[in-house]
Amino acid sequence: MSRLEKDDNFGDWYLDIVERAGLSDKRYPIKGMNVWTPYGWKAMSNIDRFIRQELDATQHDEVCFPLMIPETEFKKEKDHIKGFDSEVYWVTHAGLNELDVRLVLRPTSETAMYPMFALWVRSHQDLPLKVYQIVNVFRYETKQTRAFMRVREIHFFESHTCHATEEDAQGQIDEDAEMLSRIAGKLCLPYFLSVRTEWDKFPGAHYTVGIDTVMPNGKTLQIGSMHHYRTNFSEPYEITYEDENSEHRHVHQTTYGMSERLLGAVIGAHSDDKGLIMPPDIAPFQVVIIPIFSKDNSAVVLEAARLLAADLSGQGIRAKLDDRDARPGSKYYDWEIRGVPLRLEIGGRDIEKNVVAFARRDTGEKGQIERGSVGEGVRLILGMISSSLMERARASQESKLQDVASLDGIPEGRVVRFGWCGCEECGHRFEDTQDMKILGTPYPAEKGYSGKCIVCGKEAAQPVLAARTM
Ligand code: ZN
Repeated sequence: MSRLEKDDNFGDWYLDIVERAGLSDKRYPIKGMNVWTPYGWKAMSNIDRFIRQELDATQHDEVCFPLMIPETEFKKEKDHIKGFDSEVYWVTHAGLNELDVRLVLRPTSETAMYPMFALWVRSHQDLPLKVYQIVNVFRYETKQTRAFMRVREIHFFESHTCHATEEDAQGQIDEDAEMLSRIAGKLCLPYFLSVRTEWDKFPGAHYTVGIDTVMPNGKTLQIGSMHHYRTNFSEPYEITYEDENSEHRHVHQTTYGMSERLLGAVIGAHSDDKGLIMPPDIAPFQVVIIPIFSKDNSAVVLEAARLLAADLSGQGIRAKLDDRDARPGSKYYDWEIRGVPLRLEIGGRDIEKNVVAFARRDTGEKGQIERGSVGEGVRLILGMISSSLMERARASQESKLQDVASLDGIPEGRVVRFGWCGCEECGHRFEDTQDMKILGTPYPAEKGYSGKCIVCGKEAAQPVLAARTM
């Protein structure tokens, strides 16, 4: 068992890496509200870019709603407010005046958007309405905070859609799942989609699909979710459209949300004892160039290194020249911790031979690339690194998943899969006795499954996954 697989070690390792890699600064004087450092923000911005690409390509429009929501709007959907009551921040004063209507800092934007959707949606021609925003949301987290994974000010993506029918809304959930598979591919991140239990679904949702990924300690981290609301929100917010027969109908709605936990998941999933390994697509720097000086050649080597950096940048590769006055070994160490996928070295010998030396961060493999085709060579290796990171992460996820048939001997540090009859009593009994959470049944449903409920032994129509969670 590697040291990361032990729970306490993983938690310490994670916080240590976030700090040493310079991804986030937690010294800001509000607990759980961390500062995005340049390196961390670059990585997050790259993730956001892929999210925007996917949403734009599927005809969602980007919007930006106000941060504050009046209490009157916030309380319209009764389950929603119950779900968020204990974790929202209130604004009670404007200057010296107490506000007549208190304002909530958005914990999510349903209640900000839906009064406006009621104005925007008039006829069936306005549907589907598909919008998204990438903003910060605020949730008063009471458990121990942890950078990117459990914070109180959360960098958040949320899409909201309105449809004429339940089936159209269902089609949106399927489109969300397809977008997710492409986005997660860029992050080299495998995941499970599970339909959450009734007691764990989003407040106000008809159903919720949770997106979970497994960390090296065997705990799962929820990195996002998709919700089908049916008309649960459109009724209280009166979002209606006029159909072809001039009848007014409530829209069916969905949402899809993911957060900075994506970056937390990347940090947890791709790493070794030397530090982080950034997936090439989101790495702030895909390549670091280290000039190797020997006696009297520093001007020539530095010039060659600069040209190399410019050459790669010109070809759209994010390259960083490390020309600090430090020994190559200490530079290697710094960039290994920060997870730069590919290191290039250039010295007097390489210049003479017209090559560049490389070292892969993931496998440690070393070799040379012809200087004349360095862009092509780098791209090829970055592609290989992405594939191998994905393979490695899939193998790790696979190794953490275990089928179990009895409540005796549920293994530690695993995601377990078993039959469940679907009744709440059995579900709660499992969760309480095992101190685990039922993640849910597979989405889409597993065809041809047959099994028995692990608690009561009755026929189970679907398996469920259960795990301890981060
Ligand atoms: Zn049962």
